[in-house]
Amino acid sequence: MSSRRGPPKHQNSYAWKPNAGCKINETEVGGKFRPYSEITGVCPRCKEQIDWKRRYGKYKPLAEPAKCQRCLKRAVRQAYHNLCPGCAKEQRVCAKCRCRVDRIVGRDSSEVEAEQKMLDEVNKGKSKSLAQLVTDTENMARESFPSASLEEYAKLSRDQNDEEEEEEEEEEDVTEDEELVLE
Ligand SMILES: [Zn+2]
Ligand SMILES: [Zn+2]
Repeated sequence: MSSRRGPPKHQNSYAWKPNAGCKINETEVGGKFRPYSEITGVCPRCKEQIDWKRRYGKYKPLAEPAKCQRCLKRAVRQAYHNLCPGCAKEQRVCAKCRCRVDRIVGRDSSEVEAEQKMLDEVNKGKSKSLAQLVTDTENMARESFPSASLEEYAKLSRDQNDEEEEEEEEEEDVTEDEELVLE
């Protein structure tokens, strides 16, 4: 057992990156333009393992669907998975290590869709109230700052954001203040 505590003696100041210094082709899978698909259907531990491979450039995406080890159909579409989504779901196990888990990372697209719909609804309601809030604050600003000093007030808040662009529209300042109010 080591008696030393704290971070490693020679800790890297930034995370190690595979192929650092080499130009990566961003249109390759995993590049900027073709990000990896989401890791789904596995337990958190296996997701972490696959994530790790991705981070350290050891991830090998499937060139073609792999064989499911249970139903033997070529229905496994995610690298490092042993079971197809159907079998994994039926047995309620992780598609990689096949352990029985309560928590599976990622869900059915239908479930995700339903949730997305719900979130959209929530957001719709939120943006509505946000618009209302903006109007309220605008009115408030007008009341507490007579029109003569409104320009001055705008200038003042601009100065507070100093490094920001001076030419910004007044409306933008209002929105920024708005965000502060919401937080
Ligand atoms: Zn299967
Ligand atoms: Zn697993």
